[in-house]
Amino acid sequence: MPRPDEFVPGSFVHTFWPGRVVFGPGTLARVGDEVAALGVRRVLVVATNSARAAADAVQQQLGDRFAGRIDGVAQHVPTQLADAARTTARDVNADAAVAIGGGSAIGLAKAVALTSTDGVVVVAVPTTYAGSEMTPVWGETAGGSKATGVDSRVLPRVVVYDAELSRGLPVQVTAASVANAMAHCVEAVWTPKADPITEVIAVEGVRALSSGLRQVLMEPDDLEGRGRLVYGACLAGSALATAGTGLHHKLCHLLGGTYNLPHAETHAAVLPQVARIEAATVPASASRLAAALRGEDAAVGASTASGGRADGESAVDGESTAAEGLARGLFDLFRGAGVAVSLRELGLGREQVDEAVAAFGDDDLVREILVRAWDGVRP
Ligand code: NAD
Repeated sequence: MPRPDEFVPGSFVHTFWPGRVVFGPGTLARVGDEVAALGVRRVLVVATNSARAAADAVQQQLGDRFAGRIDGVAQHVPTQLADAARTTARDVNADAAVAIGGGSAIGLAKAVALTSTDGVVVVAVPTTYAGSEMTPVWGETAGGSKATGVDSRVLPRVVVYDAELSRGLPVQVTAASVANAMAHCVEAVWTPKADPITEVIAVEGVRALSSGLRQVLMEPDDLEGRGRLVYGACLAGSALATAGTGLHHKLCHLLGGTYNLPHAETHAAVLPQVARIEAATVPASASRLAAALRGEDAAVGASTASGGRADGESAVDGESTAAEGLARGLFDLFRGAGVAVSLRELGLGREQVDEAVAAFGDDDLVREILVRAWDGVRP
């Protein structure tokens, strides 16, 4: 007989995406060998300006394989930038793109891979905790609207996680980026594609991100703390890759694409408010996430065996305690780290909240979430 707290799997679907992760301090030095092992010949380096030194090191390692370099990227992959990168990739006959930077650099390399007729493959060397490197998700913004999609061609073939690279990430940027990663983990338990394997990954991700952030806030260049954050980012990206996105990410993409709000900070303001409502539909999962956020142990895996909540179901009244605990824990963690927890602080106008609600079909739940997120009310 199983113990009462033992997880008994029901039925679920989980997709394992292929990909190789090379993890550890100093692994930047292995990028050249990893690229060589893929058998590619003409490598385009796509780097954020903040990681020029790392990009220089990779360029050196590539030797004859180095074909060209793009320095400078932008949030949400503007189509103009994506088109210019595609032209550069064609001009230098690239068959691979090594992205060094945060979600913006990786997003630009993905944009090249997405439309390439030469089968350009992506290698990612992340320097933030956004998690894009673990997903087959692409995004591109044109005319104030962000399009996203899933395509296995954009999934990086190799991801090199070197905690040294994010050591110099300013504390504010760090905390906001952690909020972005937290959002991947937290939302993974309630999307329609939620499953128990993903939940194990998501709960561990929350644990690593929470403890890593507390450590880094005390000592920003602490390599162990940075390592925990990088590990959490890897788990968070994996959770996003398999669970996909739900209401939280839809709201953030709408706000980011339409009002050009900073991506990571938008997550910090919106996530606690969405979690308060959505996590109430999966109370056992909410309780495990809340425990992980506090650094406590909790059995993982139960209650999502039949998958996530179907679209359209509403939150269950009276089961919100764990959800509220989770929502408050997230809010307090972000606020304590000095991240803006209101959309107002990010420059969104109150009338733009009404516009966004209208764009979501005047849904009452969305209104409640966005108004509270605009105000920065503690859940
Ligand atoms: P980003 O890449 O723009 O980086 C954020 C900031 O950090 C930038 O100012 C950058 O210059 C700075 N930075 C990066 N590395 C640094 C370093 N080592 N030291 C100092 N500063 C550094 O943004 P992000 O938050 O990493 O990613 C957000 C973008 O990624 C958004 O466009 C989002 O939509 C996308 N995203 C995509 C996915 C996906 O699966 N496709 C997942 C998460 C995020």
